[in-house]
Amino acid sequence: MRADPGPEPAACAARCTAWVGRATRAEIDLDALAANVHLLRGLLPADAGLVAVVKANAYGHGAVPVAREALAAGAVSLAVATVGEGRELRAGGITAPILLLGAIDPSEVATALARGLTPTIGSVELLAVVQEAARRSPAVRPVPLQIEVDTGLHRYGVAIDEAVQIARQVVADPYLDLDGVYTHFATADEADPSFVREQADALAACRARFAAAGIRPRRWHRANSAALLRGIVGRGEWARAGIALYGISPSAAVPMPGLRPVMAVRSRVGRVFPLRPGDSVGYGRTYVCTEPERAALIPIGYADGYRRALSNRAWVGLGGGQAAILGRVSMDQIVVRVPAGVDAAVGAEVTVLGGEPEEAAPSATELAALAETVAYEVVTGISSRVPRLFLRGGAVAEVGDGSAIPWSDRAPG
Ligand SMILES: *Cc1c(COP(=O)(O)O)cnc(C)c1O
Repeated sequence: MRADPGPEPAACAARCTAWVGRATRAEIDLDALAANVHLLRGLLPADAGLVAVVKANAYGHGAVPVAREALAAGAVSLAVATVGEGRELRAGGITAPILLLGAIDPSEVATALARGLTPTIGSVELLAVVQEAARRSPAVRPVPLQIEVDTGLHRYGVAIDEAVQIARQVVADPYLDLDGVYTHFATADEADPSFVREQADALAACRARFAAAGIRPRRWHRANSAALLRGIVGRGEWARAGIALYGISPSAAVPMPGLRPVMAVRSRVGRVFPLRPGDSVGYGRTYVCTEPERAALIPIGYADGYRRALSNRAWVGLGGGQAAILGRVSMDQIVVRVPAGVDAAVGAEVTVLGGEPEEAAPSATELAALAETVAYEVVTGISSRVPRLFLRGGAVAEVGDGSAIPWSDRAPG
């Protein structure tokens, strides 16, 4: 990266043109992330807490910088899916509480406790392993844990009866601390609210059982991004926001009150060449040119997370116009049609995903529709081969892939 004062923050559509390195990179706008955290917190009851869900490398955005920014903007805790993700955050110097949302392997429990991660008990078997490890763990004492109650998702989580039983064991164990109890909705992003209501009622029944048994977990929580955006967060609860933090709507059925997309994927033209009628492009010759046109090569492919399902379907923003993909997406490259009137040259900036409206690129949600998937899969799929440029005030504050292992130790030059 060249030392460059960079453009004014307001004029950052062309930012990072000073980037020296692989043309294809993901730009992560930490200011947008902070604004999203503030906005989401503003939707919560005053005594509720926002948990920043940063699993899967912060949905592809880069776990450590995103976690730091979210905490600085007022998130009370982090949540991840795997012990490895929690370790990565600890290695990055993060000391905030980190909730492990999913099932962990019994072999990982000692590591999880040693790093001060908060396991979720979603099976009776895991409780026994955690109890045993807590007795041996010198790191944190008592060990905080949470219980996930299954109210209808039928994924991770224990039944209500089991939850009460587990909670009794936890409160009776001096090595354990009942940090929270939660459930997860199956349909919070769908138009029909009836099943969300059923699950909420089931959790309320669970709370009543706990109260009757005299067990008081430190907190209860239910909401993911969709539920948070719909106002389904009670007083004193946590809300676990993932996708909304990144400025992406959970689904078309959920309102988006001014959240800003955090990720933009940009690249540069690697070659410009003419196509004549009858020329085909790419593997399988799935695109055949019918009239003279100009093509541009962009060095991004499915190994970067640019899905092969986008072949002949998606477009990139080039010179302010939409440049359609010609032929198949290959592992490392795509070919696009240079839009009429655009004077593309080698090195010209291309926007593959996100960015300002005038860049004419598809959003993560639009790419998801074209690839017949969800935006979650689009952003989490952006691979570690794509450098992340973390921007603050429009300037590059940090480069990496969000991992605690410095990019400079792995990338040449
Ligand atoms: C991933 C996850 C979330 C976050 O979901 P979003 O829809 O991204 O907000 C919340 N809770 C649990 C249990 C999860 O696994």
